[in-house]
Amino acid sequence: MRDDRPTSLPLVPDAGADCLIFRGNQLLVDAAGAPPSAWRDYLTAVAPLRLIPTGGGQGGTCFVAEVAREAEAPRGHEFRHLKGLLDTLPRALRERAMRSLELLEFDRAHQYCGACGSMTILKPDRIARVCTNDACAREHFPRVSPVVIMAVERGPEILLGRSPHFAPGLYSTLAGFVDAGESAEEAVQREVFEETGLHVRNLSYVASQPWPFPHALMLGYRAEYAGGEIVCAVDEIEDARFFHVDHLPPVFPMKYAMASALLDDFCRRHGRPGFL
Ligand SMILES: [Zn+2]
Repeated sequence: MRDDRPTSLPLVPDAGADCLIFRGNQLLVDAAGAPPSAWRDYLTAVAPLRLIPTGGGQGGTCFVAEVAREAEAPRGHEFRHLKGLLDTLPRALRERAMRSLELLEFDRAHQYCGACGSMTILKPDRIARVCTNDACAREHFPRVSPVVIMAVERGPEILLGRSPHFAPGLYSTLAGFVDAGESAEEAVQREVFEETGLHVRNLSYVASQPWPFPHALMLGYRAEYAGGEIVCAVDEIEDARFFHVDHLPPVFPMKYAMASALLDDFCRRHGRPGFL
């Protein structure tokens, strides 16, 4: 079995460094939601699967570590799924945690060169891995996958849909990955048509947001209904309909989610209390 433990970095970074610790998508935090201060002792005890730098912090270089799935949290701490922490973590820590999780995924998925199959090593001066085969020497960078997510509006109504895996009664805005060779705007029009059979026009960009599960970048759009009757795509959407601003259904419960930001924008523009 291949040993994934880091070979290009000391097991325990320099004094002054700081480190976040993940087990899968779960971040190690204490009862107050803060990362552990005694992370060195913990990592020394459990021996992380990987330990990589994520850039400079206030006290020096920051690191992120991944521990095995069977690793247990130290006393007074627990591993919590990062999605469940996004609404409560301080902004700087939330951003750092999302970046760290994406870099773990990058490190995990790029141990070998996708062009020639040789091993890669971490570049010391940037977030990249380089192929050790001199004839190839390809550099690999963290992958980001753009996803469009859209509020399709028809006057005071907004189009919401629900996937079969949603909790009962829950709805959200439509979303989908941008295809190769496609613009974000084309993706909005294609996804809305594929999922509901509707046409849209007058697209406008709203905002973007990282979503590191594992490496998406959410691109929020507003679009105006332009025609068609709703026909839901089998296997993707089990229901989609227009909801009046005064009669919105239960929606995705996270505030830190692009769907919530789009609904907030929709409500405020129609003179209703903000959604967030
Ligand atoms: Zn290569």
